[in-house]
Amino acid sequence: MSLKTFIQQHPRVADAYAFAESVHRGQTRKNGQPYVDHVTNVAATVAELNLDEETVIAALLHDIVEQTPHILSDVENRFGATVARLVGGVERLGAIKYRGNKAQRTAVRVSILGSIDDVRTLIIKLADRLDSMRTIRALPADKQTRIAAETADIYAPLASQLGMQRIGGELAERSFPVLHPKEYENLVASVRDQYRERTAYLKKITPLLVAELGKNTVPLVSMDYRAKHYHSLHEKLQRTGKDLGTIYDLIAIRLIVPSVESCYAALGAVHALWPPVPGRIKDYIALPKQNGYRSLHTTVFSPENKITEIQIRTSEMHEQAENGIAAHWAYKEGNTAAAARFNGDIIQRLRQWREDPGNPQSFRIDFFKDRIFVNTPKGEIVDLPAGATPVDFAYQIHSDVGDTCRGAFVNGKAAALDFRLRSGDVVKIVTQKNKKPSASWLAFVQTNAAKSRIRAHLKKKRSLDA
Ligand code: MN
Repeated sequence: MSLKTFIQQHPRVADAYAFAESVHRGQTRKNGQPYVDHVTNVAATVAELNLDEETVIAALLHDIVEQTPHILSDVENRFGATVARLVGGVERLGAIKYRGNKAQRTAVRVSILGSIDDVRTLIIKLADRLDSMRTIRALPADKQTRIAAETADIYAPLASQLGMQRIGGELAERSFPVLHPKEYENLVASVRDQYRERTAYLKKITPLLVAELGKNTVPLVSMDYRAKHYHSLHEKLQRTGKDLGTIYDLIAIRLIVPSVESCYAALGAVHALWPPVPGRIKDYIALPKQNGYRSLHTTVFSPENKITEIQIRTSEMHEQAENGIAAHWAYKEGNTAAAARFNGDIIQRLRQWREDPGNPQSFRIDFFKDRIFVNTPKGEIVDLPAGATPVDFAYQIHSDVGDTCRGAFVNGKAAALDFRLRSGDVVKIVTQKNKKPSASWLAFVQTNAAKSRIRAHLKKKRSLDA
C-alpha cells in the first residue's frame, strides 16, 4: 500500500505525518531537501511492504529522538507504547557503529541481534538505510565510506538473511561503487556490451519459449528478465575466478506461473524445448534456501549454441523472494497473537543463524557466547563478560572513569551501578570529580580490570588511614 493510502485510511498515520512534519520543520538534509522527506521515504518503503500501522508510524517518527528535542515518552504519550518501543529500537540500532574493520563484523552483528526485541525494528532500520544509500553522494567522502562499509558488511547480509532480497540487493549494489569505484567502473565498461547483446538475444528466443508453454497448456502469469547486479557479478567473478564469457546467469529469464504444479509443468516444457545442462537444475521448492527462498532454476542449451538460465516460481514465491519476512508479516495484519508468535520465531531464527554450528563464523561465535557487546553513546563497542555492570564498563573505558563513576544511564534511563548490561545496550557513565571506588562494588563487578583497580585503591586507602 502506498504511504498516501495509509495516511488516507489511518487517522493515526495522518497524525504522525503531521507531527513529523512539524517537529522536523526547518531541518534540511545534507542534499538540501527538507528533513521530513527522509522520514517520509522511510515510511513509504515500510508502507509498500504492507506492514502494519504501528510500523508505518514508527518509521515516520524514527529520527525524532536523535534530530529533535523530543524524547521517547513524548512519542509514547501521543502514539502509544508499541510505537515508542519501535522508535527506541531503531535509535539503539543507530548507535551501533561499524567502522569497516572486518574483525569487528561479528561483534557488531551480535550487538545488533542482541539489541532487537521486535523484527519490525530491523525492517524500519533497513528502510532507513535504503534511503541513506540512495542519497549517500551528498555526504562527505569519509562518511560515505563508513556508511557503505556498514551497509555492505552488516545490513545487506542481514536483509538477505531475512529473505528481503529486493532491499538487500539494492543496499549491496549501492555500496559497491562507493567502496570499489575502480572495479565498479571497469565492470560496467566490460559488461555493457554483453548486457545489450544478451537482452537482444533473449528477446529473440523467448517467443519460442512462450509458444512451447502454450502448446503444453502451461498457464503463464508473466515473464521478465532478471539482470544480475554488478556487486554480485563482481563477487561471483572473484569467487570462481571465471571470466565474463562463462557467467550464464548475467541475465536470466524469469517465469511467473500460478501454482506449484505449473512450476514443474513449466520446467518440463522448458526442457522439452531446450535440453538442460546436466547438474544445473535446482529445486528450491522441494528444498527451500535457509532464508525461505523458493523457486526452480535450470540452465539450458538455447539456440545459437548459447547457454541460458531460467527461473520459475509462483507470484507468492516471487513476493517472498523479494520481500521475505516483510511479506510474511503482512499476512499477519490484524492477528496479534499470530504476529507475536511470528516475531518470536524470526528472532529465534536470527539467533540460531548467529550461533548455527554450520555457520562458518560459528567458531568465533562460540568465543562470543559468554561475552556481551555494549555501546558508548558515540557508537564505540565495548566487549565485556556476560553479567558485566556499568562499573565494569566504566573501567573498560578508562581507569579514571571507573574510579570516579557515580551513576549510569542505560538506553537513556538511569540505572544502578550493579545493573546487569545486555548486548546492544547504550551506556553512558556519569562521573563525579574526587569520587572514589567503593568496596561494595567488589560484590558485583565481573572484570579483572575493575576488581584489581578497586582493590588497589582500597589498599592504598587503608595504608593512608593507618
Ligand atoms: Mn533516519
